Amino acid sequence: MLFPPQLGPMLMAKKYLKNKLLANDIAKERIAILFKAAKAALAKPDDAGQVFARRYVHVARKLAMKMRTPLDRERTCMVCKRCNAFLVAGTTARTRLQGTGKNAHVVVTCLHCGNVKRYHYHRQPADTGKVIRQ
Ligand SMILES: [Zn+2]
Repeated sequence: MLFPPQLGPMLMAKKYLKNKLLANDIAKERIAILFKAAKAALAKPDDAGQVFARRYVHVARKLAMKMRTPLDRERTCMVCKRCNAFLVAGTTARTRLQGTGKNAHVVVTCLHCGNVKRYHYHRQPADTGKVIRQ
């Protein structure tokens, strides 16, 4: 991995920054592997798969928190914050659409713990706050 020259020694010592960026890359790679494993575990027919999936997601979230690299939006939407379940519509989650216009949102209910999460679906990703008109 290359050291980004624009940051320079002004912010942090080069060696420290280089190691930190390297560690972040490794963490992201590992998080991706864990999510892949969680998805594969859910494909198994029995309940043991769900236990494994929860464990993988738990480890991935802990790693992201420790390395201070937020999970991307796609992954955040797939995870139950309360019980770490890997949410897949129809298998571990119930997904419904509610509201109209500006109030339109998706309601995802975790079938393991019953936790509910809601998010708008008319907004652009990585928000500028703008609402897309139809
Ligand atoms: Zn849950």
